[in-house]
Amino acid sequence: MPSTDPIRVLVWSERTEPAAVYPDGMNGIIAAALNERDGIVAQTAQINDPEQGLSEAALATTDVLVWWGHGRHRDVTDESVARIVRHVTARGMGFMPLHSSHHSRAFKALMGTSCDLGGWREDGQPAHLYVAEPSHPIAAGVPQYVVIPQDEMYSEWFVIPPPDELVFISSFLGGAEVFRSGCCWQRGAGRIFYFQPGHETYPVYYQPELHTILANGVYWSAGRT
Ligand code: ZN
Repeated sequence: MPSTDPIRVLVWSERTEPAAVYPDGMNGIIAAALNERDGIVAQTAQINDPEQGLSEAALATTDVLVWWGHGRHRDVTDESVARIVRHVTARGMGFMPLHSSHHSRAFKALMGTSCDLGGWREDGQPAHLYVAEPSHPIAAGVPQYVVIPQDEMYSEWFVIPPPDELVFISSFLGGAEVFRSGCCWQRGAGRIFYFQPGHETYPVYYQPELHTILANGVYWSAGRT
């Protein structure tokens, strides 16, 4: 019988996002948005916390780890990476790397590829996020496409193993690029959802449609949907 206990979410950030855009951090606004949803209890952690906010005790009581990093991937310790990978694969902790976390050490370890991008452009032009698999639980309640007024362009080829499920594809109006922007994998006991939007100099994670997608991602990666 599926658990009905609240899903315990840890929203982690390296905290290099500009305070002018995210005064409480990207992790702060995401945790607040998730706490509005039924059945989710979200807390924040960051790289400057003891044990980088990723102690054994912290991860042992986490059902889903949401992750944002950009400039400090290399500062995440081997111990932190190994602990995340073990909790995902052996215990079934969900993992949701956002945007520039495509290059986070834990995501690369779980994927086994470089996770490099074909290209990127920090142009602040609109992105259109299309639902590619409307039957997927992460797409529940999401319109056919969501316009993000300003974001960074990412383009293929995204050097990842083929996703088990591709939920979103984005197009970028500053050019003709496309990107697999919502990708799901199972690794061992754990579910992973990579989600592309969210360059830190634009207020992307204030958008309610994206809060719906993140909450859906939490329910799915916790194994509840
Ligand atoms: Zn970015």
